[in-house]
Amino acid sequence: MCIFCDIVEGKIPSTKVYEDESVIAIRDLNPQAPVHVLVIPRKHFDNIVDMAHNDDGAYSAAVVDAIAEVAKIEGIEDGFRVINNCGEDGGQSVMHVHFHVLGGAKLGEKIL
Ligand code: AMP
Repeated sequence: MCIFCDIVEGKIPSTKVYEDESVIAIRDLNPQAPVHVLVIPRKHFDNIVDMAHNDDGAYSAAVVDAIAEVAKIEGIEDGFRVINNCGEDGGQSVMHVHFHVLGGAKLGEKIL
């Protein structure tokens, strides 16, 4: 069972900010900044390494495009931070690759 697969499939509710055929972007349940959105590929990859090895590049490109789109929608194009936690040592808690988009304030050095 994967909580983000369930969110992608609509089995668990979420607040969507953006979606396209490859990714969804939802508000984080526990925001660490005024804007805290998660960009999540619809296809399950365990982490960024799994995605790099098993994607032909389409999902990686879609993620970058979606991050830019989210920044535009949220009005933070002038400055924001993208974080990917990879694996246990990287602090990843949900094992479905996702990218934190944080902004809306002057961000401190370490917030996640
Ligand atoms: P990470 O620690 O990088 O794996 O990030 C997982 C993120 O998912 C955390 O910031 C959580 O707050 C967030 N999260 C967990 N469950 C949900 C959910 N149901 N809806 C939105 N965000 C969630």
